[in-house]
Amino acid sequence: MSEPVVDDVAAQPQLTAEELQRLPPELRPGPDGKPPKITPRLLKSMRGHYFTVKHPTLTCGHKLDLINFPKRNCDGCFFHFFNTHPQLVEVTDQFYRAHGKGPLVGMRGEKYFRAFVRYMVTIIRLKEEHDNKSVLSKESRVLAASIQSRPDGTD
Ligand SMILES: [Zn+2]
Repeated sequence: MSEPVVDDVAAQPQLTAEELQRLPPELRPGPDGKPPKITPRLLKSMRGHYFTVKHPTLTCGHKLDLINFPKRNCDGCFFHFFNTHPQLVEVTDQFYRAHGKGPLVGMRGEKYFRAFVRYMVTIIRLKEEHDNKSVLSKESRVLAASIQSRPDGTD
């Protein structure tokens, strides 16, 4: 199978050493100082390296699925899931404050709700242990504190 080669731009931009360092190794100039030809094969190999969602193994020993909510009932997985989805946390937090537990459980399920509450409580505790100030808003801390003290909010 022949590989068509994308035409070189006539004038190659001059990159600084620092810019070259930031390039993926596949795109750095070869020994002859010329940048590699961009072939479909090269693009494909780069896609695998740089654009595939990897599912790293967590300290709990499970593989983290970066896209789906963890199916396992594992606090480590839940924590890392929320930790990699700050926007989801924010939206959930806002939804909970606006609508309360019932609608949130109705929408995302009891498991999600419990995991979310645990995550919030853990984050707040870690933050306070570390530097005594929270990245979360004051409202979120109040919320977590109220969930924590509510018997139906945690296990
Ligand atoms: Zn796990």
